[in-house]
Amino acid sequence: MQKRVKKASDVFRETIFVYKNKMSFKEEFPQISSIDMSVSESGRGVKDWEAIKKYNISNLPEEYIDCSNRLCYNGGFSIKEIIRKMVSEHLINYKSTELCQGYEGSPNGQIRYRDCINGFHVNVKITYNDE
Ligand SMILES: [Zn+2]
Repeated sequence: MQKRVKKASDVFRETIFVYKNKMSFKEEFPQISSIDMSVSESGRGVKDWEAIKKYNISNLPEEYIDCSNRLCYNGGFSIKEIIRKMVSEHLINYKSTELCQGYEGSPNGQIRYRDCINGFHVNVKITYNDE
């Protein structure tokens, strides 16, 4: 059986323990009382019925949202970076288009064929505790 290509969250999980302790969402963002996020992906391997994903404080991804391109190594984008940016600027709404950070290559990523073409439309709403 062919090995599944590693995604951004796989690579993240393997490296995070080396440089920092994993913090829970509440520990990292005590000022957030609620968050709602929708992410729609376009590109390779995206199935219609799962093209739009909804997240809230109870089902947030750890750090990355992975891309659906089966051939893409380290694919996805950091949703936490967006949240960190929003919190630092105290933003309530944020919309952006994120490109997949990964590339199509060999299963372990040593050989790079081309950049992944997948992209994500991200829409985040945050409610802060002081409001
Ligand atoms: Zn990708």
